[in-house]
Amino acid sequence: MIDGNRAEGYDLICDICGHTVVGLDDFDEAKDYAKENGWRTEKYNGAWENYCPKCQEG
Ligand SMILES: [Zn+2]
Repeated sequence: MIDGNRAEGYDLICDICGHTVVGLDDFDEAKDYAKENGWRTEKYNGAWENYCPKCQEG
């Protein structure tokens, strides 16, 4: 998931293992970071989930 707000910045969090990337400036930057760093984004039960590269192995 991508979580956060303008004041404190956004975090990109793996919905499987909880690995967190902190300090992203805004929602779009978090999305771009995910795309550029091999994260997978999937819609699940109407919500977006993010999976880090490690959780996509095997
Ligand atoms: Zn993960």
